[in-house]
Amino acid sequence: MTNWAGNVAFRAGGVRRPATLDELRRLVAGGPRVRALGSGHSFSDVADTSGELVRLDRMPQEIALDGAAGRVRVGAGVTYARLAAALHAGGFALAAMASLPHISVAGSVATGTHGSGDGNRSLSAAVSGLELVTADGPLVTLERGDADFPGAVVALGALGVVTTLTLDVVPAYELRQYVLEDLPWDAPFDEVLAAGHSVSLFTDWSTVRVWLKRREELAAGERWGARPADGPRHPVPGMPADACTAQLGVPGPWHERLPHFRAEAPPSSAGDELQSEFALPRACLGDALAALHALGDRIRPALQISEVRTVAADDLWLSPFHGRDSVAVHFTWVGDWAVVRPVLRLVEDALAPFDPRPHWGKLFTRWPACPPRFAELVRRYDPDGKFGNDFVRRLVDIPDAT
Ligand SMILES: Cc1cc2nc3c(=O)[nH]c(=O)nc-3n(C[C@H](O)[C@H](O)[C@H](O)COP(=O)(O)OP(=O)(O)OC[C@H]3O[C@@H](n4cnc5c(N)ncnc54)[C@H](O)[C@@H]3O)c2cc1C
Repeated sequence: MTNWAGNVAFRAGGVRRPATLDELRRLVAGGPRVRALGSGHSFSDVADTSGELVRLDRMPQEIALDGAAGRVRVGAGVTYARLAAALHAGGFALAAMASLPHISVAGSVATGTHGSGDGNRSLSAAVSGLELVTADGPLVTLERGDADFPGAVVALGALGVVTTLTLDVVPAYELRQYVLEDLPWDAPFDEVLAAGHSVSLFTDWSTVRVWLKRREELAAGERWGARPADGPRHPVPGMPADACTAQLGVPGPWHERLPHFRAEAPPSSAGDELQSEFALPRACLGDALAALHALGDRIRPALQISEVRTVAADDLWLSPFHGRDSVAVHFTWVGDWAVVRPVLRLVEDALAPFDPRPHWGKLFTRWPACPPRFAELVRRYDPDGKFGNDFVRRLVDIPDAT
């Protein structure tokens, strides 16, 4: 059994799929080592365990919208594809989505998953409450404002198995998606990234294309030296654009424009890939892009495409965007780790002056320091290391439960 891309072979003895909360609580209380698995889309070994993995896909897939309160309560196994369709049918929306809707809400939130937009925070920052089954089986409820809450949302599965999440919602909206090609390297990147609700730059560190998602039509003067694409495009050159959401400025519902990839199609390079991403302070945008542009010839042999996005600050302790508006620089690599690893090290060296924070669900080799209050939280919730795995033990000194 592997993750989506096939680069992590899970060491788990098996996958348990409880159908009720009681069954889940007994399973967690009774097992020496347990870990929740979402939709398995992480490239790092964050979801792995040598004990048993737990999938929540047989548990109730609740989606309870409370429009008046501006929130929705969601079963942890629900995917963003299902959630977005249900929200839209009820006249509501999420402010941000990732590039793909195939991923589970709980797994995405646990790693600090994000979309793009100067005004958009991570998907994790939309969480206002959660319920989780902790080590001995009790169900714990945490809400925004509780002391432990900012450590418990982006928690890498280390505190327990999350069963439900409550998310902020906004009224449904429409967006248009434009692709602009051949953006010059001296273009005002800050201005381009601020020109829509959600903006991405896709680059091979030679040419740059813009994915611009916004309510308004593109004005004739808004080109920044680029030209509108004459047909639909896939972010990865050479991949068929029919996997992508509608472009060419055709207005449509938020959830059919914000993700780059359609729920019914395989996203990105369909798993023939590895991925890495680093969050840097937003103010470092120009210097960081210049540093990587200078390394373009050495990066390209290992690269399929890079994506540059912006993410607003949040207050979640382990979030890559904690306390700072950020630019997120992403790499869709070729699928061969032996080719990718030395180039990833080169990129990490180049980004080191900008205080990079890695995406927990993607590949990196330099480990950041763990905030002490998160380490304290993990030890308090899970003193025996039941939810621990090699990934978490690289961050937090916890027992290796056997
Ligand atoms: C093609 C592709 C495109 C991507 N695009 C983006 C993007 O645009 N933006 C971005 O930020 N990331 C992106 N990612 C990364 C992805 O969003 C993260 O890896 C995310 O965590 C995947 O969610 P998942 O449900 O597959 O989680 P998994 O990989 O299954 O698990 C991730 C973590 O969550 C924990 N977890 C899962 N469920 C629970 C639960 N119920 N309770 C407690 N912990 C739980 C797991 O233990 C693990 O630690 C992309 C990945 C792929 C493959």
